[in-house]
Amino acid sequence: MKKPTKRALAARGTFATLRALHPDAHCELDHASAFQLLVATVLSAQSNDKIVNLVTPGLFARYPDARALAAAAQSDVERLIGKLGMFRQKSKNVIGLARGLVERHGGEVPASLDALIMLPGVGRKTANVVLGVAFGRSEGVVVDTHVQRLSQRLGWTKETEPGPIERALMQLFAREDWDMLSHTLIFHGRRVCFAKKPMCVTCGVASSCPSAGQGAEHVGRKPPRSR
Ligand code: SF4
Repeated sequence: MKKPTKRALAARGTFATLRALHPDAHCELDHASAFQLLVATVLSAQSNDKIVNLVTPGLFARYPDARALAAAAQSDVERLIGKLGMFRQKSKNVIGLARGLVERHGGEVPASLDALIMLPGVGRKTANVVLGVAFGRSEGVVVDTHVQRLSQRLGWTKETEPGPIERALMQLFAREDWDMLSHTLIFHGRRVCFAKKPMCVTCGVASSCPSAGQGAEHVGRKPPRSR
């Protein structure tokens, strides 16, 4: 195994502190199966997890698995998820996704990155969420708006696109940490390192953060609108 660089060791030290600060970090999308997590993750694009958690109980009560959702009328799914932005497009997407699961995988969610990203509406980020949370398999790092902003602010990458940021994080951190890395950065981003006014004064990793005390305009960029 390759010896971690000094930079990687420093980043891992900061991550250990963040983990201690947010021991409760976890995926906040409510789900009872890999199928439900996959659908909830697709629905969470451009929405927040709380609103998704408001609509998924009704959706999954009516359509508990891929076979049921694959046969759904789009108008009914639209009614059930109408609180979400882009609910019409998302209804179409999740029905298409369910049909893909039925046609290609017998209604089951495949536990492989390659198979997941071949499904309609499933990108690398969604696939990484499902693999890490539902299957305990780390194939990559989930890079959302918080992970993107914090990775830049903490000096772990100068990249600005999710793909290159993910590769940079995969080089800095051990594979077994990839899943928790995302959850922990997301919690720190929601609680402390806000996009507009990061709370550097009370932040537990300020001593190792190169962006501490700088204006928000200098520390982290708005991510592109992709999921
Ligand atoms: S010191 Fe400030 S910019 Fe750095 S991680 Fe903490 S809140 Fe974010």
